[in-house]
Amino acid sequence: MEHVTRIVIIGGGPGGYEAALVAAQLGAEVTVVDRDGLGGSAVLTDCVPSKTLIATAEVMTTFDSSYEELGIIVADDTPPLEQQARVVGVDLGKVNRRVKRLAIAQSHDITQAVTRAGVTVLRGKGRLGPGGQGVDGSREVLVDHEDGSTESLRADAVLIATGVHPRELPDAAPDGERILTWTQVYDLEELPRDLIVVGSGVTGAEFAGAYQALGSNVTLVSSRDRVLPGEDPDAAEVLEEVFRRRGMNVMSRSRAESAKRIGDKVEVTLSDGTVIEGTHCLMAVGSIPNTAGMGLEEAGVHLNDWGQIKVDRVSRTTAPGVYAAGDCTGVFMLASVAAMQGRIAMYHALGDAVQPLNLKTVASNVFTDPEIATVGYTAADVQRGKMDAVEIKLPLRGNPRAKMQGIRDGFVKLFCRPGTGIVVGGVVVAPRASELIHSISLAVDNNLTVEQVSGAFTVYPSLSGSTAEAARQLHIRKRDEGDA
Ligand SMILES: Cc1cc2nc3c(=O)[nH]c(=O)nc-3n(C[C@H](O)[C@H](O)[C@H](O)COP(=O)(O)OP(=O)(O)OC[C@H]3O[C@@H](n4cnc5c(N)ncnc54)[C@H](O)[C@@H]3O)c2cc1C
Repeated sequence: MEHVTRIVIIGGGPGGYEAALVAAQLGAEVTVVDRDGLGGSAVLTDCVPSKTLIATAEVMTTFDSSYEELGIIVADDTPPLEQQARVVGVDLGKVNRRVKRLAIAQSHDITQAVTRAGVTVLRGKGRLGPGGQGVDGSREVLVDHEDGSTESLRADAVLIATGVHPRELPDAAPDGERILTWTQVYDLEELPRDLIVVGSGVTGAEFAGAYQALGSNVTLVSSRDRVLPGEDPDAAEVLEEVFRRRGMNVMSRSRAESAKRIGDKVEVTLSDGTVIEGTHCLMAVGSIPNTAGMGLEEAGVHLNDWGQIKVDRVSRTTAPGVYAAGDCTGVFMLASVAAMQGRIAMYHALGDAVQPLNLKTVASNVFTDPEIATVGYTAADVQRGKMDAVEIKLPLRGNPRAKMQGIRDGFVKLFCRPGTGIVVGGVVVAPRASELIHSISLAVDNNLTVEQVSGAFTVYPSLSGSTAEAARQLHIRKRDEGDA
């Protein structure tokens, strides 16, 4: 009888459910174990909910920042930040109900698609069994169900894709009402009047920008010199400037030590003793991998000091037959990367053709206003000598479509190899930069030159015209330098 490969996947986020679909297509017998619902944190608490909230914030920002210039009349034409009662406001309860509805519907759709593909979905907590590898090389996975029962499964290959949960500071325990993690904000019925956001990485910056657009007074506490320390410095500078211009209180080099609830208020104490007061506090101080208590180290799966699972570029852990994908590996915390790692694991486990993970072609985006989209090698890579590249930065101010739309902030930046002109990276800071980055992604992925990128038609007038123009200017500069 033909042996069907048994795959058990622990965790049903993008790393897990995308892997399940691929494995089922390749003819394996697949079981996904998840404790919260398919789609994972990406769909239920992180990516999908935050971007749905930001969709409302985006409409508010577009209106607030450009209505005057575009000639729109509102009943009270006092600038929005000076209005006693805002002319345009949001019903946060309604916004949050929409957020949750969409998240649950998306999880439901994913469950249907996965089940239709023939995958068995089990609700429960998965862990590796104590027995190690059996004589046939298979592994045991134990599933702890909500009713207290435990089920044992055998698998020829196991994929761990359990994600992360928000990190908490010991003296700032979230209460779910006024001191919140990013998973708890969707229970708010009313807009926080004075919101303190602790942490200025991508999550902190996205929420700070969104709540400010929705109408909160926002203080952003950043332990670093500037917001978004991991992003392109020019892009971070634009965003910080925009945040401050719109009235956000950005506190740089300020480390939060504790957050305390006092009645209807929250007091956040910084390491220099300064106390800031707000009505709510959102903690965005990183995440912890969901890898504890799963029998991983006992099974030979090596974890680093932060508890992240060590994997190679085909998602193998240090234990034979055990793969890992997504945030729990800490490789690049994006839904798209989690999904790719999960698929790669299945191609490898099931003997299909496999391309190892290539992080240098990953496109990512910070969903602030303006958005910051990045692909390929960065300014930091060039500075550290990891890549020899020349760069150009074109401000959007000179772009005709930007002028028509009242867009003042943002730029397109391209990096190309000095000799060949091959595009190796780019940054777009603009409204909907997440859509505009795709042409640069295509160039990076296919080793296109600046000459080729500048040769393709763009629509007139369009923001993407700036990408072609940046490529053209780099090409001319390279040609002139070649002639000299
Ligand atoms: C606020 C926020 C916004 C984000 N926005 C974006 C974005 O716009 N774009 C983007 O690409 N990325 C975004 N991310 C990152 C993205 O959410 C993650 O990269 C993605 O969720 C990783 O997928 P995953 O499969 O590794 O894990 P997850 O999506 O976290 O799924 C893991 C699943 O495993 C389950 N689980 C955990 N332990 C067990 C266990 N022992 N047994 C069974 N099940 C278990 C969990 O309950 C969960 O359902 C955002 C993150 C945050 C915090």
